[in-house]
Amino acid sequence: MKYNVKRFIFSSSATVYGDQPSPLKEDLELRERTNPYGKSKAMSERILTDAAKTRDGFSLVLLRYFNPVGAHSSGLIGEAPQGRPNNLMPYKCKVAKGELEILNVFGDDFETPDGTGIRDYIHVVDLARGHVAALEKAGVGTRVYNLGTGRGTSVLELVETFKKVNRVDVAYRIAERRPGDLAISFADVTKAKKELDWEAELGIEDMVRDAWNFENALDD
Ligand code: UDP
Repeated sequence: MKYNVKRFIFSSSATVYGDQPSPLKEDLELRERTNPYGKSKAMSERILTDAAKTRDGFSLVLLRYFNPVGAHSSGLIGEAPQGRPNNLMPYKCKVAKGELEILNVFGDDFETPDGTGIRDYIHVVDLARGHVAALEKAGVGTRVYNLGTGRGTSVLELVETFKKVNRVDVAYRIAERRPGDLAISFADVTKAKKELDWEAELGIEDMVRDAWNFENALDD
């Protein structure tokens, strides 16, 4: 408000849906998780939505990210987490590189075809394009869009695709479930397609290739 911002895009997260059946649609009520990250996303969505109501001509877009992974194909921009990564893709890269010993697959007894968790991984370049579409197309008022591919991939599917595409080994073992992890989360992507004329174009192969390419470019 101090700087008279008229268009605001908030990086929210699919975590605000909580444990509800997928595909997750934007009009579901928020069921945020108990973790501080999920709480802060839901809280920020509410604060921004209220703030937008009090401002004439204000455009607010809440973008709910699913699981962003990968890197720019140039290898120049990517994710370089400090210390031990928490997320699956960067962790896997460190194991493939020999910097971490083994990937722990958190649970193989979920109600999914191979027992491991299913997520909607989205290439960061598609995610970036989603923001451009939101900036260009969003009108006055508050809009909410999922940014995902609409497709679910299990932990083991992602690991196997990574190995196959990059021709590297990733040592893994089945470990205990991580507290709070959901079995399945993937997006309903029809709203963004219809209203923003945007949809994800890159697939799992592109994601694992570009993540690995960036990981190796880190040494250059
Ligand atoms: N996961 C895993 N081992 C890891 C990190 C993650 O098996 O070292 C699983 C996790 O249980 C979930 C999926 O990979 O099913 C994606 O987890 P991530 O932390 O990347 O994202 P989240 O979906 O939790 O936001």
